[in-house]
Amino acid sequence: MRRRTVGSAAALAALALTLTACGGSDEPAGDAGGEETSAGGGETIRIGIKFDQPGLGFKDGDDYTGFDVDIARAVAEKLGYGEDQIEFVESPSKQRENLLQTGQVDMIFATYSITDERKESVAFAGPYFVAGQDLLVAADDDSISGPEDLEGKNLCSVTGSTSAQRIKDEYAAGTNLLEQPSYAECVTALTSGAVDAVTTDDIILAGLAAQPANEGKVKVVGNPFSEENYGVGLPQDNERCEDINTAITELIEDGTWQQILDDNVGVSGYQANEELNPPEVQACA
Ligand code: GLU
Repeated sequence: MRRRTVGSAAALAALALTLTACGGSDEPAGDAGGEETSAGGGETIRIGIKFDQPGLGFKDGDDYTGFDVDIARAVAEKLGYGEDQIEFVESPSKQRENLLQTGQVDMIFATYSITDERKESVAFAGPYFVAGQDLLVAADDDSISGPEDLEGKNLCSVTGSTSAQRIKDEYAAGTNLLEQPSYAECVTALTSGAVDAVTTDDIILAGLAAQPANEGKVKVVGNPFSEENYGVGLPQDNERCEDINTAITELIEDGTWQQILDDNVGVSGYQANEELNPPEVQACA
């Protein structure tokens, strides 16, 4: 019913003004505002995603692509939200808890690992995927085959991630950790020679390695050393967790989950760990 129609921004803005009858606005016609107004006046849902993780959460002009994004769309549809009722909001690793706690997003699908520490401030549905922390190195570097080889090396990861935290907790001795706001910035540091390796989840590294600009320059080591259970971040005391878990289970059972994974992640050559995927959802707290 609420299929997105193709039209000029001005036509859409005019339509929105007519339908919502909010007269008196002198907004220029080209500026429909950041708010997604559904034709029926129904409520919108704000979903936090990554904007710069190709294959997972990626902003491509006005479009959003990736496994997290398509799983989010499919779950939102089962919750009753059409595509035109979704507003995607960038959710960098270190801002996720805050975005949920302050109500700036309703839920987060952003390679967001379920951890006990995070559960102190937010809630999780899922998991809907299990990845593993790995390393990205220069294509011709054979000196690093796992986290034990990081001594004396310069490593890049992202502030507020489990990836950076695990290095600090378990492998910090002798490793120089540079923290950046996003993994894309870490890959730039790697290809420019500023660091020797980038660490985060293997599925994220595979997507970055497959970018045309990085192809042939970098490689994923392929020796995962953690289990990252990707959850749907929610505010504590939410009423959606059970419904989201049901939606995820249905998507796995009817093959949609596999299709979404193949469509988005297949191109990077990444192979999901089949012993851990697809995962079974955990009981909502
Ligand atoms: N899954 C890990 C985490 O939630 C690393 C990926 C990320 O930073 O989004 O911290």
